[in-house]
Amino acid sequence: MTDKRDKPFDLFIIGGGINGAGIARDAAGRGLNVALCEMNDFASGTSSASTKLIHGGLRYLEQYKFRLVREALAEREVLMRLAPHIVRPLSFVLPLTPGMRPGWLIRAGLWVYDRLGGPSRLPRSRAVLLHHHNIEGQPLRPEIRRGFAYSDCWVDDARLVVLNVRAAADLGATVLPRTECVAAHRDGGIWRIETLDRRTGKTHHQTALVMVNAAGPWVERVTDDVVRMPSPAAVQLIKGSHIIVPRLYQGEHAYILQSRDRRVVFIIPYEGEFTLIGTTDVELSAMPEHLEIGAEEVAYLCDVASGYLKSPVTPKDVVWDYAGVRPLYDDGSTNPSELTRDYVLAVNHAAGQAPMLTVYGGKITTYRRLAEQAMQRIATSFPGLKPAWTATHSLPGGEMPGADFESFLAALCSSHAGLPREFITALARRHGSRCRDILRGSQLMDDLGAHFGAGLTAREVDYLMDIEWAREPDDVLWRRTKCGLHMTEAQRRVVASYISARASAIGGDTNPG
Ligand code: FAD
Repeated sequence: MTDKRDKPFDLFIIGGGINGAGIARDAAGRGLNVALCEMNDFASGTSSASTKLIHGGLRYLEQYKFRLVREALAEREVLMRLAPHIVRPLSFVLPLTPGMRPGWLIRAGLWVYDRLGGPSRLPRSRAVLLHHHNIEGQPLRPEIRRGFAYSDCWVDDARLVVLNVRAAADLGATVLPRTECVAAHRDGGIWRIETLDRRTGKTHHQTALVMVNAAGPWVERVTDDVVRMPSPAAVQLIKGSHIIVPRLYQGEHAYILQSRDRRVVFIIPYEGEFTLIGTTDVELSAMPEHLEIGAEEVAYLCDVASGYLKSPVTPKDVVWDYAGVRPLYDDGSTNPSELTRDYVLAVNHAAGQAPMLTVYGGKITTYRRLAEQAMQRIATSFPGLKPAWTATHSLPGGEMPGADFESFLAALCSSHAGLPREFITALARRHGSRCRDILRGSQLMDDLGAHFGAGLTAREVDYLMDIEWAREPDDVLWRRTKCGLHMTEAQRRVVASYISARASAIGGDTNPG
C-alpha cells in the first residue's frame, strides 16, 4: 500500500533507542514535524541492555576523557531533576586490593570526579574501612579492609527511552513502532523513504527534509543497505553482557570491582531480590541475528565477583542474563575497553541535497546533550528553529514538586491507603506522577482488574499497551516493567495470552498517540 503524504516530515529518525527517542523529543518540542521509526519495540536494542548507570564514568578519567566525564556528570544532575522516578542516586564502594590501581591514584581520581561536573546534590566521595561488622564490608573477603565510597545514579534505561518517545508523541511526533526503514534515497532537497510495517507486512512511503540515522549497532547496515551511501565514519561493535543472581548481600549500595585485565565490573542491587553483575567487552565483526551471553563471559563475571566476595558466585547461580552491543565510534584503539564512549555526529550535507545526520557511539547518560548537539548540527535546515529546552522540562511522570520522589510516594500511599505500599512504590517508580492515571478510582487491588503476579495488573498492562505502544509479552515483562523476573513461567504465559488477546482486539494500529 502507498501512503503518500502531501507535506514532508521535517525530520525522519531511524531507530527508537535512547538516541533516536531523545532527538525526537527535542525536535518535536522545537516545533519540527517529526517521525520516529523503530523496527522492533522501543529500546529493544542496546538501550535496554546497559548497566543502567547515569554516571560520569570514573574509569574514563584515566583515559583523559575529561570532556565526556564533565558532560556526563553534569547530565547526572539534570536527569535526576527531569525523571526522579526512574533516575535515583546509587552509592558505590570501591574495594582496594593489592596489585590493582593504588589508593592514592583512586583518591586523586575521585577528587576530580567530585568536582568536574560542577555542583552536585550527591554526597562526595570518602575513604571507607571495610569490616565484617559494617554493611559495606560484610559480603567482602576478610582480607579486603579499605576502600572508597562515591556516588552516581541508577536509571531504568528502557523506561527512559519509552518516556522520551511518549514525550515526543505528546508534542506531536508521529511514532512508528515495529516499522523498519527499508530504503531511502535523495530526490534533490527531500528524502523519499520506504518503511515496512512489520506487524501488517504493509509498505508505506514517506518524505522528509532531513534524515537521522540513530540505528545504534545497525548504523552501518542503514548507511550501506538502506541509504546506500558511503559511511561517514566507522563503528566498532563491542558486546557487553550481564548476569543476574539471587541477592548477594544486604544494603542498597553497589560495588565497583577492578579486574586483573584493568577493566571494572559492577555488582548492583537489582529489583529487590536480585543482584546484577556486569559487564564484559567482546569485539564482534558483525551484528548477530540473535545475541546471547557466552559461557566464557558468565565465567569471567563470576570469577571477578568471586575474587572479592566471601561466598563465590558460580554459573549455577545465574537466574537471568542479557547482552547488548555498544556501537562505539572507531577511534583506532585496539583494546575494546579503551575505545571512546563519547559520541560523534556526522552530517552529510551536499549542496542542494537533503541532509543526513548519522549518530555514532554515545551513552545513555549523555543522550539529552547528544540530541541538543544533533539539533545544532541540522539547525541550518530550519531557520527560526526554537532554542534548546529539554534541560528544564520533566519527562512524563517526572512532574513532582522539588523532584522529590519520596514525598510524592508518601502522598500517593496515603491517598490509596487500601493498596499495599510495596505495590504502589513499584508502580510509582515506573510511572511517577502518571501512575495516577493507572490508579484512578482504585482503593483495593480488585479495582485494578486481574493481578498477574509480581504487582502487575490488567490496568497497568492496558496502560502500557494504550499509552506506551506495548504489543508483545517481552515489551511488558522485560522492558516497560521487569515483572518477568519475579514471575513463574505459568504466570508469564497468562500475561502473554492476555496481551495477545488484547493486541488482536486493538488490531494493527500501534500508534496510540
Ligand atoms: P539502540 O538502543 O541499539 O537503538 C537503535 C535502534 O535502531 C534499535 O532499537 C534498532 O531496532 C533500531 N533500528 C536499526 N535499524 C533500523 C531500521 N532500518 N529501521 C528502524 N529501526 C531500526 N551507557 C550509560 O550511560 N550507562 C551505562 O551504564 C551503560 N552501560 C552499558 C553496558 C553495555 C553492556 C552496553 C552494551 C552499553 C552500555 N551503555 C551505557 C551505552 C548505551 O547503552 C548505548 O550507548 C545506547 O543504548 C545506544 O543507544 P542507541 O539509541 O544509539 O542504540
